Amino acid sequence: MTDTTSCASQLPDYGSLTAAEARARMLAAVAPVPGHECLPVRAALGRLLAADIIAPHDVPAHDNSAMDGYAIRFDSLAGDGDTRLAVVGSAFAGKAFSGQVGRGQAVRIMTGAVLPAGADTVVVQEAVSVVGDAVIVPAGQKAGQNTRRAGEDLARGAVALPAGKRVGPAELGLIASLGCAEVIVRRRLRVAFFSTGDELASIGTPLAPGQIYDSNRYTLHGLLAGLGAEVIDLGVVPDRPEALESALREAAGMADAIITTGGVSVGEADFVREVLERLGEVRFWKLAIKPGRPMAFGKVGGAWLFGLPGNPVAVMVSYTQFALDALLRLAGADPLPERALLVATAANPIRKQAGRREYLRGRLVAVDGRWQVKTEGNQGSGVLRSMSEADCFVVLPEDCAGVQPGDAVAVQPFAGLY
Ligand code: AMP
Ligand code: MG
Repeated sequence: MTDTTSCASQLPDYGSLTAAEARARMLAAVAPVPGHECLPVRAALGRLLAADIIAPHDVPAHDNSAMDGYAIRFDSLAGDGDTRLAVVGSAFAGKAFSGQVGRGQAVRIMTGAVLPAGADTVVVQEAVSVVGDAVIVPAGQKAGQNTRRAGEDLARGAVALPAGKRVGPAELGLIASLGCAEVIVRRRLRVAFFSTGDELASIGTPLAPGQIYDSNRYTLHGLLAGLGAEVIDLGVVPDRPEALESALREAAGMADAIITTGGVSVGEADFVREVLERLGEVRFWKLAIKPGRPMAFGKVGGAWLFGLPGNPVAVMVSYTQFALDALLRLAGADPLPERALLVATAANPIRKQAGRREYLRGRLVAVDGRWQVKTEGNQGSGVLRSMSEADCFVVLPEDCAGVQPGDAVAVQPFAGLY
């Protein structure tokens, strides 16, 4: 990704962990949680396969016609010029022709109908002229044309879908084409989350002076729903070590993973670090990124912990860039999905400090068939509105020290990201 920008270069800040290093450490630590369930096909949408699905028969099951036309033997045709063939019957999808197709004969055939015995080629109906009970086939046909061979999509015994695959619309159809009514999928990942902060009010209650509404739990609800996780919302936890401790213990007892927001920096009300150090094996990282510099990662009891920063946009950056893939691996996704990274031309200058990776909110527009990206006005890490108005992150690598209009930059579209 570093090579996709033409930014000026400076030395990175070696005091912090790079984004790539943090991601690698997280992914190396986690492994899929055990457990699976058997579901009716439709209910498996969005879930991860727990085992390979093996084709119990060939798909398609029989040689069949890809077009409406006439099934013939290729060796009936004269090499050059027209050939007259006698039409001896019809074959429909679901209603096969039971006889043989001999030399000099043709069978009227519809798309999807089983290719009659003896026939090996289909001539499309538009190409022939019908004369009474015969058809005139012109020269220029190719052996085997317009047919679909048994097993050409999938041979019996082949792996139709591998374990770890996420079931989307194509997979639902493919599973149905094999005749499978049920699928074994990994159980949903259980993710508990809570917000920390004495200033947070829950929606539905009036705001006291100095309070703000807790938005992170709603953002996380949306992010985790996209992941297909079973979410456990534990509400708001005040900035008191005992309250944090009991919330973490409760979360660890019921979930595979815990996500907290806020309280991970070094302010006087940031108790997450102190409490976690008592409760589990947790590492605190100062990441060389913006936004989302502080982050905690580790384990409390049997649950993995992702301690995200408090600022709403920093939550989305740390989740999408770090927690998401670790959660997908915990859930059993294999391989992890590739994150699309486009190269776009910067429409405006971007100020940037070298030594950290920055994620800016941007909007993509196609100009003369090429992607151009404009960064959104207010890039403050608390400004959710510009997150909503944006459709991508502009990802500026560590060595970038600023962008000029016309420079090439790497862009991560939100579509498919969460
Ligand atoms: P913290 O990391 O706890 O110092 O929080 C950083 C900033 O994010 C502060 O301005 C908090 O008020 C804000 N913040 C923390 N948690 C939330 C939340 N759940 N919803 C909205 N803003 C939050
Ligand atoms: Mg706080």
